[in-house]
Amino acid sequence: MFSPQKVDFQKGDGLVPAILQDARTGQVLMLGYMNQEAYEKTCAEGVAWFYSRSKERLWMKGETSGHTQKVIAIDLDCDQDTILLSVEPQGPTCHLGNQSCFGDDYFNLAVLERTITKKIAYPEEGSYTKYLMEQGLDKILKKCGEEMTEVVIAAKNRDANELLDESSDLFYHYLVLLQEQGLQLKDVETRLAERHGVKHTYSVRDDIQQW
Ligand code: AMP
Ligand code: ZN
Ligand code: ZN
Ligand code: ZN
Repeated sequence: MFSPQKVDFQKGDGLVPAILQDARTGQVLMLGYMNQEAYEKTCAEGVAWFYSRSKERLWMKGETSGHTQKVIAIDLDCDQDTILLSVEPQGPTCHLGNQSCFGDDYFNLAVLERTITKKIAYPEEGSYTKYLMEQGLDKILKKCGEEMTEVVIAAKNRDANELLDESSDLFYHYLVLLQEQGLQLKDVETRLAERHGVKHTYSVRDDIQQW
C-alpha cells in the first residue's frame, strides 16, 4: 500500500516516535512508538501498528476497541527518525474516549464541516442544518447571497466585530452549500494546492489520488 522508506531506528534503540494526525482536520491525535516491524506492517496494511513499550509487543491500534486508524499518508521528518501518519480515525483515538489523546479543545473549518456532515447524515429535531437541507438549494443559495452581502456591508462600515460575525455566518452557509453540491473543503484545498504548484511529496496511498 505504501513503499517503506529508510527510517533511522538505531537512534532510539529500535524504536521511533510516530505521530498520528487527523488527515482532514489537522488535529494531532496521539503519539506512539514503532519498531521496524510495526512500521512495515503499517505500510503494508494501511492501518497504524505500534510497538507497546508496556506490553512489549506489536499492537494494532483498535485491535480491541475497533477504533483503527486508516492511513492516508506517511511522512518522515528531516532526519528520518520520526514518523508522521495522516489518518482517518475510525472512532475516538484516545482510549479514554476522546478524539485526541491531547484533548478535544480543537476547532477549525474542517471540524465545522465534519459537524455539518454529521448533522446532514443524522438529522436531529430542531437542527438548522436539517431545516436548510429540507428547504433545498434555492434557500441555501439565498442565504449565501445574504450573508455575503452582510459581509460587504460590515467591511464597508469597517466594523470588525460585525465582519467576524457575518464571515462566520457566510462560512457556515458556504460549507452547507458545498455539501449540498456533493463537494468538500478538501476539494477546494486541492484546487488551491494545484494553483500554488504544491505536490504532495510523501508516499500517498496508491489507491488514493488526492485527499
Ligand atoms: P485499542 O488499540 O483501541 O483496541 O486499545 C487497546 C488498549 O491499548 C487500551 O486498553 C490501552 O491500554 C491501549 N491504548 C489504546 N489507545 C491508546 C492511546 N491512544 N494511548 C495509549 N494507550 C492506548
Ligand atoms: Zn528527527
Ligand atoms: Zn489517550
Ligand atoms: Zn449574517
